[in-house]
Amino acid sequence: KPHIHLQIQISLFGDDDRLIVAKDVTRLFQLEQMRRDFVSNVSHEMRTPLTVISGYLETLSDHADEVPPKWRRALGTMSQQAERMEALITDLILLAKLETGEQHIDDRVTDVAALIRQTCSDAKAVSGDSGHVIEMDIGERHHLFGDENQLRSAFSNIIFNAVKYTPAGGTIQVRWYTDREGAHLSVKDSGIGIDPVHIPRLTERFYRADPSRHQQTGGTGLGLAIVKHVLLNHDGSLEINSQPGEGSEFICHFPRQRITEAPIETA
Ligand code: ADP
Repeated sequence: KPHIHLQIQISLFGDDDRLIVAKDVTRLFQLEQMRRDFVSNVSHEMRTPLTVISGYLETLSDHADEVPPKWRRALGTMSQQAERMEALITDLILLAKLETGEQHIDDRVTDVAALIRQTCSDAKAVSGDSGHVIEMDIGERHHLFGDENQLRSAFSNIIFNAVKYTPAGGTIQVRWYTDREGAHLSVKDSGIGIDPVHIPRLTERFYRADPSRHQQTGGTGLGLAIVKHVLLNHDGSLEINSQPGEGSEFICHFPRQRITEAPIETA
């Protein structure tokens, strides 16, 4: 059934006069839909050849001692770049699904405390011996009604970013708490911070505050766009507070209706 999309703008003049303008934005909607489908198709099509390339690279790496020494470095670089491309494709597919709402949100009682603890320990493992300190202050009692996989993606993007954009030895404070408004995950780092002019645009795809850094940090540039869509799917929002040189705080807000008590254990 064809849909017509209208954008309606109502302006008030004085006490009783109103100007109502309705604009047909159906074409714009269709174009946006085509863009998403295109991105999703291209990503899926690229995945198969990349899997083959990565498979051969892995086999070659397993036999690195048979590879002539002058090619070993090239082999390492190729493996690294293939991994980056895989991460990019995975994120593109996830984002396309989140945007179209095709990623059906699988609402369940989710143990957010456990999810956050797991993510922090993964982040700690990835940061290796960089000496990052991750402090956790996690309320146990409340669980969230939401999609565990989507929430895991959102939380890990924010927590891994905190590590990525904080120099070695820095501190990351992770706090999960509830109050009258709802439930909140705050991730506060002592890192490089963000110039306020960039903050409103950080959740756009591929937007980076400092493009020269992204080669080093190796992200996909899609992390915060994914976070934004996951939070939207959970009726939540993202708050970003930061100053250059003074670290950043990313807060995921969830409304009260999403909070549930931990389920009672049944035998
Ligand atoms: P990326 O893969 O580049 O990290 P994201 O979408 O996750 O992409 O983040 C977008 C941009 O936001 C980053 O490139 C970086 O400039 C900025 N950013 C995100 N998290 C932080 C943080 N904790 N501290 C400083 N800058 C950050």
